[in-house]
Amino acid sequence: MSSSLRFEVVGEAFKKKAVAFNKPEERPSEFFAKYVFTRQKMYKYLSAEAYQKMCDVMDNGASLDLKTADQVAEGMKKWAMELGVTHCTHWFQPLTEGTAEKHDAFVEHDGKGGMIEEFSGKQLVQQETDASSFPNGGIRSTFEARGYSAWDHASPVFVIGDTLMIPTVFISYTGESLDYKAPLKKAIHAVSKAATDVCHYFDPEVKKVIVNLGWEQEYFLVDEGLYATRPDLLMTGRTLLGHDSAKNQQMDDHYFGSIPGRVAAFMSDLEIQALELGIPCKTRHNEVAPNQFELAPIYEECNLAIDHNMLIMSLMKEVARKHGFRCLLHEKPFAGINGSGKHNNWSLATDNGVLLHGPGKTPQDNLRFVTFIVETLMAVYKHNGLLKASIMSATNAHRLGGHEAPPVIVSSFLGNQLTEILSHLENATDDELINIAGKHEMKLDIPEIPELLVDNTDRNRTSSFAFTGNRFEFRAVGSEANCASAMIALNSAVAEALINFKERVDALIAGGMEKTKAILKIVREDIKTCKPIHFDGNGYSDEWKEEAARRGLDVESSCPLVFDRYLDQSSVDMFAKARVFTRSELEARNEIKWETYTKKVQIEARIFGDLCMNHIIPVATRYQSTLIDNVHKMQQIFPAEEAARLSAKNVELIRNIAAHSSFITENVEKLIEARKVANQIESEREKAIAYHDTVAPKLEEIRYHVDKLELIVDDELWPLPKYRELLFIR
Ligand code: ADP
Ligand code: MG
Repeated sequence: MSSSLRFEVVGEAFKKKAVAFNKPEERPSEFFAKYVFTRQKMYKYLSAEAYQKMCDVMDNGASLDLKTADQVAEGMKKWAMELGVTHCTHWFQPLTEGTAEKHDAFVEHDGKGGMIEEFSGKQLVQQETDASSFPNGGIRSTFEARGYSAWDHASPVFVIGDTLMIPTVFISYTGESLDYKAPLKKAIHAVSKAATDVCHYFDPEVKKVIVNLGWEQEYFLVDEGLYATRPDLLMTGRTLLGHDSAKNQQMDDHYFGSIPGRVAAFMSDLEIQALELGIPCKTRHNEVAPNQFELAPIYEECNLAIDHNMLIMSLMKEVARKHGFRCLLHEKPFAGINGSGKHNNWSLATDNGVLLHGPGKTPQDNLRFVTFIVETLMAVYKHNGLLKASIMSATNAHRLGGHEAPPVIVSSFLGNQLTEILSHLENATDDELINIAGKHEMKLDIPEIPELLVDNTDRNRTSSFAFTGNRFEFRAVGSEANCASAMIALNSAVAEALINFKERVDALIAGGMEKTKAILKIVREDIKTCKPIHFDGNGYSDEWKEEAARRGLDVESSCPLVFDRYLDQSSVDMFAKARVFTRSELEARNEIKWETYTKKVQIEARIFGDLCMNHIIPVATRYQSTLIDNVHKMQQIFPAEEAARLSAKNVELIRNIAAHSSFITENVEKLIEARKVANQIESEREKAIAYHDTVAPKLEEIRYHVDKLELIVDDELWPLPKYRELLFIR
């Protein structure tokens, strides 16, 4: 039996397990947010007084008193118990890329030997968590291991299965954040406040600026049976070996192709469950690589959007298994074909519905538009290295800089129309731009921006931070990552840029300059300053790497070194100004980043060594022995010269197998040695650098020879499913 057939049989067994897809009777409008404690449900389950208080807490940041918290908890419990809920948990986002939960039942002694269902305001609002096993970068030593989680009122509670899930921040006893959500909320607050202040130049009525995020989640599906036979996928989420399949994505026949039936069933099931949890799923399609797909919801407020992304990632994994698949969120599960990203569509909007990164109808509107665009570019320019650090990880490093993914340089694509507007502003004289005839008669010469801009943005896929009509698309974010990392850096950096902008404009106004003139003057200054970040050309090209270095952009590609950007003085100052991180928090987080990097490469190196020595070498040797046996036997039945001629090819194969095998064996030894040396290093940073420089490259070197053996060794003997089997769902 050939290996493809053999492995397909395993796959078939799992296929049968796949749950048939049940189309619900109801429409999405009827079951949307069925399992979410929405305002509508608060209205129904809370007293009028408690409801009003909660609205004040959610809308105006009022503090929540314990009496109201008790009432809210009671209402929530009633609602949840009607859905069969028995437990509750604080749901938080530690620095592990996943989410964490610890369930408590709704039970208490009733004092008479029985039990009652109870859920108090205190349990809802705050929980103490002994979380010394979560990564904390040394912020807490074990003797003061207490951390606590506190309810995030901005994200509604929801129900999964029999459990009430309460989104929370996770903070150390001494107040440092130990998660993604706490700093994210601070960054959102900072940019919202700074943007509101700048908005007041244009519209004094604006009360609040909202940060929007629309993520596009890419992922792979593989058959669960095949997955189970690949220890590398199982342990590391990516294939550490495997030769290119003859056919992969070169025909461009997968992208936007018709969705295979099994996958369509998975997607519908996933979407229904997501919609029930209030995640507004909108788009689904095949992606470029075989077995690669994408899901995107309608954009939402950034904090909520991130909770929803974390939720959908775990939902995807779970629903995939029901359908006989495994969902791979790793950024580069397969070499030689596209990896997966998570485009972060980001924009700012006012509470009265104006998209601040979108053009308006009047010159005044457009001055506001240009202001927000330019100050965003200032942030990205000033902190391009940091923004790269915010999306960098051991896994995303495999994708970045590939031939299909954003390069390891952060730059911004603006498109023709926006470029023209900015260069007009830059080059025109003051008198051309602004013509003040009288107090109320001001003519601003900012070119009219066609409506079309919004729908007709050029699509430059090679830029890591592209303007797309009314938003920026941060494309370098990894598919597996918590978007919060990127959003913390971006929102904080933009907050700083807007604060700086306002300080300079206010200084001019205080000096007697008219407001519009002052705004224009600073905008024009900044257009010049941030020019190096603007690049509309091909970001995948080698020329760009050289050009970017000349422009002074950060071109470092070593993951552990990229993390250094978090500790640059400019980053520390910026995070302090935005009140998001202190230096010690940044230092602690970097320790975690380096440690995580090391552990990931370490695990890969161990699995890879095992695969080479236990799977590949024995099989290669067995096949080689068969060939040797054949060569000997040929000598027995043919005259020496003829035997030699007929066996020449086999002798060559024997030699090749020997060469590849000895390379592999010797270098697996060296790989182990390199690990041992690196493991001795105390400093997390230095250890990560050693893993990057001495361990990771060995994996690639050895892999080349393993993949060569895959082409030589009898398919029937090959112990692992090949790319051609893994990558084509039938
Ligand atoms: P693409 O063509 O890049 O795949 P889509 O139309 O699929 O773009 O949209 C991608 C995401 O961007 C969606 O989540 C969408 O809701 C979101 N989006 C659209 N407009 C905005 C905006 N102004 N701000 C933030 N996100 C937005
Ligand atoms: Mg997009």
